[in-house]
Amino acid sequence: MSLYFVVGTVLVSVSIILILFLKSRKERVELKSLRDLKSSLAANESKESALLLSIADGVYMVDTERNLTMFNPAAEEMTGWTKEEAVGLKCWTVLNLKNEQDDSICQNDCPAKKVWTSGENIVRDDTCFIRHRGAKSVQVSSSYAPIRNSNGDYSGAICVFRDITEKKEVERQRNEFVSTASHELRTPITALEGYISLAENGKICQIDEKAHEYLDKAHQTALGMSDLVKNLLTITKIEDAKIQISVGDFSIHDLAGETVEVLQPFAKEKNLYLKLNEVENQEIKGEKAIGRSLNVRADREKIREVLYNLIENGLKFTTTGGVSISINYDKDFSTVTVSDTGMGISSDGQQHIFEKFYRVDNTATREAGGTGLGLFITRSLVEMSGGRIWLESQVGKGTKFYFTLPRSID
Ligand code: ADP
Repeated sequence: MSLYFVVGTVLVSVSIILILFLKSRKERVELKSLRDLKSSLAANESKESALLLSIADGVYMVDTERNLTMFNPAAEEMTGWTKEEAVGLKCWTVLNLKNEQDDSICQNDCPAKKVWTSGENIVRDDTCFIRHRGAKSVQVSSSYAPIRNSNGDYSGAICVFRDITEKKEVERQRNEFVSTASHELRTPITALEGYISLAENGKICQIDEKAHEYLDKAHQTALGMSDLVKNLLTITKIEDAKIQISVGDFSIHDLAGETVEVLQPFAKEKNLYLKLNEVENQEIKGEKAIGRSLNVRADREKIREVLYNLIENGLKFTTTGGVSISINYDKDFSTVTVSDTGMGISSDGQQHIFEKFYRVDNTATREAGGTGLGLFITRSLVEMSGGRIWLESQVGKGTKFYFTLPRSID
């Protein structure tokens, strides 16, 4: 009996010791992982604050009352406020964001407020100035993102902003130079074109065949220069947002028809077809809509330029077959397609085709001549009209350019 009692006691004691040992081991392991977690959090925190301290962009955070809760050194530099002064103040007191007309963005159009009402990030590349404490004005581009707390509710916003004053000044000077140079070149080029035309006119001058040939080449070059100058002037206007858009309702089908008529002689010269397909009648919202009479809302003359550029390019880069234009529409937009059976554009070329001065590097492009500015202008004009432009192309088979325009409200 006493032996059983002794063995039982030993067994119970061993079990208790084992349990205690395992428990303390588990606690040690948990403690260690807690310590690891703490140090990794501390490491992350110090990494984040090192990042905010060293980043060249200004960074600040606000709570939902728009009190500043964080302000990094670059923000101090751009505003003239120290972190100690700024944190705790209302963000508009420190940032005092203004637009070009000197209206307060903070009061009328606060982007930080918008991010926690919409829940989306906001990027502002528009003209936005911070009034530096030392009275100078700093032009900035900025982006805003909402911050959420552990419950998932919005607790504020973080803003990153960059000083673009110098970049904008360089851009302004460059545009001014291009614009002045283009204006100055316009008059002599027009005179040159005029004198060459006079020299080529058989009723005024007698010149031999060879001189005629040379003058013809000189005339083409003068026309090319005149195109370049016209395009450069348009681009400076687009970039300075000075282009005048006069919006009205018009039939895109009729405008395409007029452009086809103007370019028909060029197509004939190259033995190519150039045709405008009839618009098919479609049902919209259960009502029959008559294709030909469908109007778009845009600037008629700007869209004439878009159509001219796309059709002329189609003809320029096609040697057999031709160019056709078709128009489709849905409830809100008309889509114009300009398709050619020409040389096509490689996928690499397609990625850069709408960039300024980009020209695909091949013999056909070199022979056709041009400035590489047409499609940049075309895209800008379409986008200014509230539309979109894109292309599909296969080398050796042809290219289709599509662009959309908002339909006029019936
Ligand atoms: P440009 O025609 O004055 O060179 P664009 O901006 O209109 O300038 O066109 C840029 C380049 O894109 C052209 O040089 C040409 O290489 C290519 N491209 C444009 N349209 C077509 C087309 N329909 N087919 C093949 N290549 C084209």
